[in-house]
Amino acid sequence: MTNTYVTDITHYLNESGELAEMPAAARKLASFLGLLIDAASQVMPIADHDTRIRCRKRGCQGSIRASLPTHDSEITWHCPVCGLNGMIHKWQGSKWDRSGQAEEGNADRSQEKPKPAPKYTPREGQYLAFIYYYTKLNRQPPAEIDMQRYFQVTPPAVHDMMLKLEKRGFISREPGKPRSIRLLLMREELPDLV
Ligand SMILES: [Zn+2]
Repeated sequence: MTNTYVTDITHYLNESGELAEMPAAARKLASFLGLLIDAASQVMPIADHDTRIRCRKRGCQGSIRASLPTHDSEITWHCPVCGLNGMIHKWQGSKWDRSGQAEEGNADRSQEKPKPAPKYTPREGQYLAFIYYYTKLNRQPPAEIDMQRYFQVTPPAVHDMMLKLEKRGFISREPGKPRSIRLLLMREELPDLV
């Protein structure tokens, strides 16, 4: 392992949580790390997930993979092409934290505006839970055929369900790209898979 970046992200931030004054190279690194925090915390918890963020090593076309098993853990990342890798500490509550658990100091605001519980049907909930567990166990999102097999339904039925879940903001996906489903809900917002 070479070039390990071990980063405490708070070192790059000023008191108001914005990027502090720093040389351009450091600012570029901080922005890159910010993107990784944003990507990793959106789909947390997740093991070794392709963030589709381009590796920062000059000339490398790799796409950074990151993992974030729990909200309390550090984000670890690596480029599968060149091996560049690192670890990000204290990302929780930074401006890139998308995990929705950055409630510190926001207690008043969150009481005024409680986050509405996701409204999915029991059937949709089962698909969402399947996506969660499949991704966790296989370290990659399911393909539509995996859901056809599990739910014993036709390809169009699965496809329609994915379109619906995407439209309602429960998942994101890249059209035409297999295994690109990203769950946008957290474990606590999901039902058990029955
Ligand atoms: Zn690379």
